[in-house]
Amino acid sequence: ALQCGIVGLPNVGKSTLFNALTQAGALAANYPFATKDPNVGVVTVPDYRLDKLEEIVQPQKTVPTTVEIVDIAGLIRGASKGEGLGNQFLANIREVNAIMHVVRCFDDGNVTHVDGGVDPVRDKETIDLELIFKDMETLEKRKQRLQKLAKALDRTVLRQLKIVEELIAHLEQEQPARSFDELDSEDDEKFFKELQLLTAKPIIYICNVDEASVLTGNEHTEKFKAAVAKENAEVILVSAAIEADIAELEEEEERKEFLADMGLEEPGVNRVIRACYNLLELITYFTAGEKEVRAWTIRRGTKAPQAAGVIHSDIERGFIKARTVAYEKFVELGGWKGAQEVGAMRQEGKEYLVQDGDLLEFMHNT
Ligand code: GDP
Repeated sequence: ALQCGIVGLPNVGKSTLFNALTQAGALAANYPFATKDPNVGVVTVPDYRLDKLEEIVQPQKTVPTTVEIVDIAGLIRGASKGEGLGNQFLANIREVNAIMHVVRCFDDGNVTHVDGGVDPVRDKETIDLELIFKDMETLEKRKQRLQKLAKALDRTVLRQLKIVEELIAHLEQEQPARSFDELDSEDDEKFFKELQLLTAKPIIYICNVDEASVLTGNEHTEKFKAAVAKENAEVILVSAAIEADIAELEEEEERKEFLADMGLEEPGVNRVIRACYNLLELITYFTAGEKEVRAWTIRRGTKAPQAAGVIHSDIERGFIKARTVAYEKFVELGGWKGAQEVGAMRQEGKEYLVQDGDLLEFMHNT
């Protein structure tokens, strides 16, 4: 499964947020992999469309889809030199598909800051530098190997060497690999992916704020937003402490009241989870029968048979065709029957690229 890892300096609220996220996703606890590792949380993806489908289809049960979040605690200054458990943490980052970088934007004299005062811009740079150092190490090693091969004047090798050298220069400017824009061909892109650089991973920033600043932001979040403006990354404001409190409330009604008091429509963790989902380039399709209405996760750009394979490999193998209607149409026409009556259902074959929100029915022989 695709995973989103939480990184950040110590004491910025990562674990608090992780716990709130996983508690909010307690529904997912009956998944077999939910217990495999205490640092991996299987989190339910909130989706209002499921509620609507449930209303229309009235199934026996409704199953949301999930995403995995990994708590990568312990990244500190010097990690790339092996400080703390540096190498371990950097290896953990390599394994995740996207990064959620948490910065502290709350003032609280009781919570010590590892580097003195609250300064999210400096904190972010500290983490960035560790990741950049590690990537430089990766690139220097690669450069040496390519230089040995370059004597043969192989075009591919020479091109790769050029990319590596340009990347090193880019990182020396303290820029992450994700903002490198000298890739000219599919081969270039493929090689770049192969390098598995830490700073190439897609990223979102989470500003952990105090209760009063969730809606308005504060002086720290303003500075932070300005500092990352040209990165094109999403910045989300949440209060991890509040999210933890919300997650503790057992009654839906209590939670609603609590949120209303704060002027919020939904828990901040919902926004965080959806942002992760988007960052991982995941989309959702639905199956909707009397037994079960269910959301399924696929990568954007997945064709119908592979999408079916998420349900069961037999359906992928025996795939004949899919019948489908878009979510909006399905709701507008009041369900399968209505959609069929006006001929809104489409037949799609093996090459069909499944779209976010498709309702799907697979025909297969097994
Ligand atoms: P981590 O080291 O990044 O995982 O940070 P923790 O989640 O363990 O939080 C460190 C400390 O900050 C704990 O004492 C938390 O209770 C506190 N903390 C976390 N989030 C908030 C917040 O939003 N506001 C305040 N005031 N304290 C927080």
